[in-house]
Amino acid sequence: MANLPKTQMVTLIICNDCQHAFVTEMPLIEEVHQIVCIHCESVMTTNKDQCCVYCSYGSEKYPKMQLWDILRSSLDSS
Ligand SMILES: [Zn+2]
Ligand SMILES: [Zn+2]
Repeated sequence: MANLPKTQMVTLIICNDCQHAFVTEMPLIEEVHQIVCIHCESVMTTNKDQCCVYCSYGSEKYPKMQLWDILRSSLDSS
């Protein structure tokens, strides 16, 4: 596979049904709970123990969750 974008705003989703992997941008405005596979059009929804589809299926956590992790660790150390 070619080089993937390494920014935190982009994540690699792997489809549950057809295992097709595709890169998608994560919108910052709202958490997304449904994503459609660009290959087989299967609809993936958020796992119940996760906050959004990106945390459920993506290679990267949702950007807001990444920020919370950073914030929490800085609060803990103070
Ligand atoms: Zn698919
Ligand atoms: Zn999430």
